[in-house]
Amino acid sequence: SRLVVTIDGPAGSGKTTVSKMLAHRLGYRYLDTGALYRAVAVAAQQGGVDPADGAALAQLCQGIDLDLQEGGDGLRVLLNGEDITGRLRAPAISLLASTISARPVVRRFLLTTQRSIGAQKGLVAEGRDMGTVVFPEAEAKFFLDADPHVRACRRYEELQAGGDGPSLDSVEEQMVQRDRNDTTRSVAPLKPAVDSLRIDATHLTPEQVIARMMTHIES
Ligand code: C5P
Repeated sequence: SRLVVTIDGPAGSGKTTVSKMLAHRLGYRYLDTGALYRAVAVAAQQGGVDPADGAALAQLCQGIDLDLQEGGDGLRVLLNGEDITGRLRAPAISLLASTISARPVVRRFLLTTQRSIGAQKGLVAEGRDMGTVVFPEAEAKFFLDADPHVRACRRYEELQAGGDGPSLDSVEEQMVQRDRNDTTRSVAPLKPAVDSLRIDATHLTPEQVIARMMTHIES
């Protein structure tokens, strides 16, 4: 039978690479929930909304229509019909996404979106609270982690590949900041679900991580 598989973990732990590969291997859909938080961040930036203003954020969310589309080159994110995929990975958006994700109104708004996408089984969902909050009934839960310096190096290389990115130091600094925000917020903080399998990917290739996951899923 088709399952819901959740993969949570901090930035740069390899969640995205592994989640896409696993979804492909299982013939499942892939849900990148970080992209949804990033899309709300883009909307806040466009609308000049102060992330500390709860009422303004609530109003912003009410006017947002988010759509995920499977394009030939991966997932495309549409914000009120506009394709904003190319803007999601900017460092300023990463930080803003982390800030607004601590706001209950934003989490409530996206909870509905995520659950409606997950209503159809056969899904690999990646994020920070997939196993703990959004899909507590998921049949297979993973928590992926890696040494912070290794995570920063990976993210640095990704950003370099897209042109002249920020320095390794600033990537690492931002990642530490984001981890701190994500693990200390009062709503849905980043933490392993009690029934998740934890995998430390510091010394593992994506293939090796997938192999462990497949063993767990098939057991
Ligand atoms: O995974 P990604 O780095 O794209 O996520 C961007 C930010 O969105 C994270 O730093 C986190 O603050 C937030 N997020 C979240 N819950 C999720 C997915 C992402 O709070 N399920």
